Amino acid sequence: MRKCLRCHAEMAENLDIKVQGGAYGIKVTQQGIFKDSLGKLNCAVCPECGYIEIYMEDTDKIKKLMKKENTVS
Ligand SMILES: [Zn+2]
Repeated sequence: MRKCLRCHAEMAENLDIKVQGGAYGIKVTQQGIFKDSLGKLNCAVCPECGYIEIYMEDTDKIKKLMKKENTVS
């Protein structure tokens, strides 16, 4: 369960993020044009103050990415 960072109310989770006017959600990728999405973005909204938090469902790819960067340097 996610709590609002501002007022600590319980947030509505697992909501989709969509770009207005299109069916495409926004996504996080590595830099470069043809990089795969690093994971689906979800958002949570606080019913009290309207604060929106964006988070990733699955952080495995992010963890791998960070490991890779650590071994290179
Ligand atoms: Zn709130």
